[in-house]
Amino acid sequence: MEQLYDVAIIGAGPAGLSAALYAGRARLSTLLIEKEKDGGQIVQTAEIENYPGSPEEESGPSLVAKMSAQADRFGAQRVKDAIVSVELSGDEKVIVGQKDTYRAKTVILATGASAAKLGCPGEAEFTGRGVSYCATCDGPFYNGLAVYVAGGGDAAVEEAIYLTRFARKVTIVHRRDQLRAAKSIQEKAFANEKIEFLWNSTIAEIKGEGLIGEIVVKNEKTGELTSLKPDPKDGLFGLFVFVGYHPQTELFLDQLDHERGYLITDEAMHTNLPGVFAAGDIRKKTLRQVVTAVADGAIAAVEANKYLEG
Ligand code: NAP
Repeated sequence: MEQLYDVAIIGAGPAGLSAALYAGRARLSTLLIEKEKDGGQIVQTAEIENYPGSPEEESGPSLVAKMSAQADRFGAQRVKDAIVSVELSGDEKVIVGQKDTYRAKTVILATGASAAKLGCPGEAEFTGRGVSYCATCDGPFYNGLAVYVAGGGDAAVEEAIYLTRFARKVTIVHRRDQLRAAKSIQEKAFANEKIEFLWNSTIAEIKGEGLIGEIVVKNEKTGELTSLKPDPKDGLFGLFVFVGYHPQTELFLDQLDHERGYLITDEAMHTNLPGVFAAGDIRKKTLRQVVTAVADGAIAAVEANKYLEG
């Protein structure tokens, strides 16, 4: 691509979409690059109860649809491409994708984070065969069946509640005896008769033939191993894993300062390289939520504009 954009934004989750909106309003020539579909992690969230101003029934996809339309309204150009390398140090930033190469005077990195894995034997083998990282995608398959949820944070508990729409019973398997999730979410889970808990427990192994047929759970206090199998009447069950996220920053780590993979910025989203900004879950920060991601995106775009004005 010949054009030299004012700003190239990599990633069209809430941070990238917000950056595109603000860059568009500043009349910057803006390229928004996304490898899959808009929205990042929140397209997998069935209910958004903590984004100020959103209606009670707001889902991740419905919120993203509004953000995307708003970014488009202010003129961001879009391209679908998977970025394979970047050169961020010069005045002209070069972004190489599988389909094309893009050039821009500034770059906003907003590639977000992806689901962390349990790391136990059988997890990779049975992913898509009973092991899932997305309740909205796979929950409906478990209508009337039992499912297990690994994790104890906001995502695990919220998605467990969502899964009770389909599943007969949802058992949260958590490695401690206290949930990490926000109290308001915990209260809903404790009040839900379909939700049970296996405390101080981790998933040691996943077994089966073709489809998941057995989950081996380890009691972290006693070391005891318990084998969980589907009810013979059901014949199958599912395991949903929500044990955190990893930043998608591999392409940038040789050029940018980071801590455990999370990019280090100042309060104004500046990385250690001039003209390069980071926004959203890829940053080292204290609260990774939609509300903080969109704020980051807005700040990054305003700062990119200031940088361009010299
Ligand atoms: P999280 O808050 O980091 O929680 C991860 C959970 O998984 C923790 O309970 C952790 O246990 C457990 N865990 C981690 N590694 C494990 C392993 N190897 N085996 C077993 N359990 C393991 O992650 P999250 O729930 O995905 O949320 C990520 C961020 O998104 C958070 O900031 C969260 O607030 C936000 N979020 C917000 C909402 C919402 O408010 N609507 C919804 C989803 C996510 P320990 O508790 O023992 O560490």
